[in-house]
Amino acid sequence: MNTTPSAAIIGAGLSGLACATRLHAFGWRVSVFDKSRGPGGRMSTRRGDDWQSDHGAQYFTARDPRFKAEVDRWLAAGVAAVWQPRMAVIGDEDLHDADAALQRFVGTPRMTAPTRFLADSLPVSLQCTVDNIEKTATGWQIDSREQGRLAGSFDTVILAVPAPQAVPLAHPVAPGLAALARRAAMRGCWTLMVRYDQPLDLPFDAAFVNRGPLRWVAREPSKPGRPARETWLLHASAAWSEAHIEADPAEVATRLAAAFVELGAPPPLAATAHRWRYADTEPALNMGYDWDAERRIGLCGDWLNGGKVEGAWLSGIRLADAMTEG
Ligand SMILES: Cc1cc2nc3c(=O)[nH]c(=O)nc-3n(C[C@H](O)[C@H](O)[C@H](O)COP(=O)(O)OP(=O)(O)OC[C@H]3O[C@@H](n4cnc5c(N)ncnc54)[C@H](O)[C@@H]3O)c2cc1C
Repeated sequence: MNTTPSAAIIGAGLSGLACATRLHAFGWRVSVFDKSRGPGGRMSTRRGDDWQSDHGAQYFTARDPRFKAEVDRWLAAGVAAVWQPRMAVIGDEDLHDADAALQRFVGTPRMTAPTRFLADSLPVSLQCTVDNIEKTATGWQIDSREQGRLAGSFDTVILAVPAPQAVPLAHPVAPGLAALARRAAMRGCWTLMVRYDQPLDLPFDAAFVNRGPLRWVAREPSKPGRPARETWLLHASAAWSEAHIEADPAEVATRLAAAFVELGAPPPLAATAHRWRYADTEPALNMGYDWDAERRIGLCGDWLNGGKVEGAWLSGIRLADAMTEG
């Protein structure tokens, strides 16, 4: 009889991969499933012929000693590096801290690199959209939109997905977890990736923007290991994004490019818009994770733990530790 504990982890973003890595180290049999074509979730990069752009997470910080040690491992593996942009705050300076002393890290050569590094050591099934989980006499069984019922069963299932995507999976099998996920208010974010044929003459590489539709702009080639093609990433504010969440991408591109021109940039030669339906949580919960020991189902993700890259990683680690306690 095989007594090795097993877990199905839904979501190959950083929280799911951190949880899976930890369980794997404890000797568990883990299987990770993600609906996308690659791992990383919101640590994401769009690539074109001669350009690329991190259109989700921009950078991450490391305050917790455990996450610092993990980032050191990423630095040693060459999948992350320190980013030292010329920072600015445009508009109300009290709203953001452009603290030059703060150490900011990015994935190298792109933001997905740390998650790919983790995923390389794990069994990860991609393009596998889980649309149902069910507890049977033999354990948890998983259904996916693309493949139907997946082979095998699992002692434990982990939902490492944004809160609104956890609700329909958890609701029939763990109503308490679904109720918690319903409490998390996740907001959208429109992004625009703009290209030029020469470097822009702006006095910053990245700026927090506190006026108009934009909230953040960053020059992609200022990050280590990126292609030289002049590419900027623009994020709209949560308020503007939510107000325009169903807008036509071409219209969004026009509006956000115009806002960038107001900051001193020329009109872009090319632009690509992307909508994140669930970008951040306001306010993010601070409970770390949730674990239903009786049913053997858990939740992890940034929305349970402060809402950022570091919080996502710690959420996955803390859930794995709670599951393996005692
Ligand atoms: C625009 C934007 C800017 C950001 N900027 C920063 C920043 O500068 N600094 C910072 O620290 N953080 C930032 N963040 C937040 C950071 O990206 C997240 O905190 C972190 O990446 C979340 O990881 P996660 O594992 O919790 O979730 P995710 O990365 O969202 O991973 C969830 C995964 O689940 C998968 N999934 C969902 N439903 C299913 C399903 N039914 N079946 C299978 N797979 C499924 C998704 O495809 C995804 O890969 C930003 C995010 C966005 C969107």
